[in-house]
Amino acid sequence: MKLNTLSLAELKNCLESGQGTAVEVVNQTLEAIHAAADGNYFITVGDTETLVKQAEQIDAARTSGSTDSTLTGPLAGVPIAIKDNICVRDIPLTAGSRMLAKFVSPYDATVVERLKNAGAILIGKTNLDEFAMGSFSETSFFGVVKNPRVAGATPGGSSGGSAAAVAADLCAAALGSDTGGSVRMPASHTGTVGLKPTYGRVSRSGVIAFASSMDQVGPMAKTVEDAAILLEIIAGHDPKDATSSTLAVPKFRDFALNGAKNGIEGMKIGIPAEYFDESLKIDPIARTQIELALEQLKNAGAILVDLSLAHADFAAATYHVIAAAEASSNLARFDGVRFGHRSEHANNLTELYERSRAEGFGEEVKRRILLGTLLLSEGYYAKYFQKAQKVRTLIARDFHQAFQSVDIIAAPTSPCSKFLLNRDHSDPSTSLNADRVNVAVNLAGLPAISVPCGDSVKDPNLARPVGLQFIAPAFEEGRLFQAAACLENLLNKSRSKA
Ligand code: GLN
Repeated sequence: MKLNTLSLAELKNCLESGQGTAVEVVNQTLEAIHAAADGNYFITVGDTETLVKQAEQIDAARTSGSTDSTLTGPLAGVPIAIKDNICVRDIPLTAGSRMLAKFVSPYDATVVERLKNAGAILIGKTNLDEFAMGSFSETSFFGVVKNPRVAGATPGGSSGGSAAAVAADLCAAALGSDTGGSVRMPASHTGTVGLKPTYGRVSRSGVIAFASSMDQVGPMAKTVEDAAILLEIIAGHDPKDATSSTLAVPKFRDFALNGAKNGIEGMKIGIPAEYFDESLKIDPIARTQIELALEQLKNAGAILVDLSLAHADFAAATYHVIAAAEASSNLARFDGVRFGHRSEHANNLTELYERSRAEGFGEEVKRRILLGTLLLSEGYYAKYFQKAQKVRTLIARDFHQAFQSVDIIAAPTSPCSKFLLNRDHSDPSTSLNADRVNVAVNLAGLPAISVPCGDSVKDPNLARPVGLQFIAPAFEEGRLFQAAACLENLLNKSRSKA
């Protein structure tokens, strides 16, 4: 049996019932990773000897009745890939940057600690846009990531390595981070499930900060149920993150199982005019697939409600002001003295700072630091940064009002069904349009999920990974899992009939 091709839930069953062993999982997964090396999905792959040893201990614990959760927990023997901006102790952490090319993390992020406590096997660190800044997984110092599902295309970004690793069966599931769509976008482009949790649901401790008021770690998986299982494990209060919520973590998996079994009859789904607008240039394949998926939900008893999010068109500008400002402050620590690459060509202290940063950061990161520094300087602070904070409140208020009359909101995850590797990079509209449907959720701190809906199209020339996005009120991830699992189930059924 090819254990690496199973979903996380299937693999769990297989291991728990003794049909497969953790050692087999590790060997098959590492073999698949090495065979797919040209996709550039991983920056660091786990050491074979160490991982096999861990797997042997897990297999032995299963038969000996051990109570050590790191060997017998709910993810015992399950390989999980980690985006390389999340700390894993004693493993290199690069954030996709030359700045951290030689850094080895001295500690575990809280999310990683929780995965380890659940018995997960951390199979490797995945490629990403440098410091998670980008929408295409093209700005990494370690090279462009390819899309395993679409030849000649990028997997979207910035968590493109994690999404591609899931799609190519190189892990059972993965972690990504989403500051402005970076879990959802690559999920959409690789036909996988990606969830951005409510701000505060998941600890940010040990995650390289990009824009701290929006960053969240999220699960990336083959199925909705898998994403729910993973979120249940990584979510919950963490004293090391002052913004982490003390709310109890619901049984997310039950919401997913319930959605698949009982559907979403009577659920009100808001359709915001601004997210389907002509100016977004949603391509015909994406639009067709999304409309067909919404049609299926309607036929299954969901109530589609047209609505408007009045300030949606200001979201991308607002996001880029706030994200750049926060990034410029967060990235100040990478100066070659406190952290990061140190230039060998400096003659004095000022030159050391200047050259270390000039050599260590790539173009996109420099652009954002420069912009952020300008926006926080005297005169510009009130004019741009403070104004952006006010618009942020209006954007959050629009959602709040919308949720008075609907349960969830539906939107495209990405206006494009394909990001060509060699497209015209001088045109920023592709990336801005993608931001327009993603970043408002981060500004408002809401949870959102991207579910594959590409199977709606029967014509093989049109069948391409496309994601449908659902957005819910804060801390209502359960609704997202329910709706997403319902859609996944409807599409699976129509596929098996075809
Ligand atoms: N496209 C967004 C940006 O480049 C997404 C970033 C993210 O979510 N990490 O800022």
